[in-house]
Amino acid sequence: MSFSDLGLLAYMNSVVDAVAYTDPTPIQEQSIPLILEGVDLIAKAQTGTGKTAAFALPVLQILTQNEPDAETCPVRALVLTPTRELAQQVADAFKTFETHLPSPIGIAAMIGGEDLDLQVAQLRSGVQVVVATPGRLLELVCSDLIDLEQLRVLVIDEADRLLALGFAEELGHLFEAFPVERQTLLFSATYPKKVVALTQQILRNPVQVNASGDMPTVANIKQRVIEVNALNRRPLLCHLLKAEDWKHVLVFVKSKRAARNLAAKLRRDGIRADEFHGDLWQDERTAVLRRFKQRSIRVLVATDIAARGIDIENLSTVVNYDLPRSPVDYIHRIGRTGRAGADGVAVSFVDHNDQAFFKIIEKRTRQSPPREQIAGFELKGAPPEKAKGQPPVKGKRPSKKDKARAAAARDSARSDETDDQDSD
Ligand code: AMP
Repeated sequence: MSFSDLGLLAYMNSVVDAVAYTDPTPIQEQSIPLILEGVDLIAKAQTGTGKTAAFALPVLQILTQNEPDAETCPVRALVLTPTRELAQQVADAFKTFETHLPSPIGIAAMIGGEDLDLQVAQLRSGVQVVVATPGRLLELVCSDLIDLEQLRVLVIDEADRLLALGFAEELGHLFEAFPVERQTLLFSATYPKKVVALTQQILRNPVQVNASGDMPTVANIKQRVIEVNALNRRPLLCHLLKAEDWKHVLVFVKSKRAARNLAAKLRRDGIRADEFHGDLWQDERTAVLRRFKQRSIRVLVATDIAARGIDIENLSTVVNYDLPRSPVDYIHRIGRTGRAGADGVAVSFVDHNDQAFFKIIEKRTRQSPPREQIAGFELKGAPPEKAKGQPPVKGKRPSKKDKARAAAARDSARSDETDDQDSD
């Protein structure tokens, strides 16, 4: 199937040619015709599958087909994203497509951590597509600095992540500001209960498309599991960088502190490394990401803030230096490589203590990569003995509630250590 079979008009096909997309990806094939029909959409798609173009191309066609009032030039399409980097990236994709349109339509990113006055000035100069993080948008809405009355299409990108990052309240307030008559498109890689509830609240007779199929991981990503003692991970990483000539590597760690420490130690070892996490100012985050994309940084040590949506071309290797908190995070992390059909490798370092959790990841991803050990860095010692507790006393076994409380306490202890999210 070609792009022209999807209902895109000749000038949109020129856009697609200009950016050198030859064939539509599965999510584009399924979503574009429906979006052009004007229906509400629930799309299940992972990042890296071409989902940005799946909504950006039809939205641009819808906007250019229906000219707005030239006097007011209102916002007519809005994309909400969970992180500032993703917002910037989506806005950049729109801008790239826009340069090949017959006439410009005005696109801007409204994100926290950047100059509000500048963004307001941009809005006044005429912007039809806004890509925003919820906090900054709410700030604009509450101060009457943005007019959304003529909003025609609303895209909620990475809805699962938006809700996981605690944006439900902001979204609730924002929906009050949106016109009821609109087309709503919701994209999410996973569908936890909160996302399902959101879809029921905000979509009208939605059509569902699913481009992720049954396989939860991207098929062309090779997964490697290397058994190594935690203390030996850094020497092993340095060894692999050299021995296997890893050129451009994203290394995930569990906390901001770990990112700072590991990046500093790698630099001390003579490796061009830097850190990426939520403690950096927005301009630092943008600059680090730019340098990584330009390859002046070879190893980027990041928290999970980089796990979703960041699109880095030709990123060949992702390393789970610390395992993620959940199988879903694992899927997102490794999805940073192998984008748009390219080959990629995801390497996980696993110590004795990680084995049980990695089994849960394997169950969820339905893949069991073989375990490897690297000469000179073999896993030493024995797995920790399972502590034998007292035999259960009848009537004193933990109830479901007790178990849930214990799990919540464990989770909050872990998130103190690992929490890294955007607050906008
Ligand atoms: P996304 O899932 O939107 O982050 O897209 C991932 C990458 O795929 C981006 O670098 C896009 O430019 C690229 N891409 C999107 N659609 C296509 C296509 N039809 N053919 C080739 N590359 C594509």
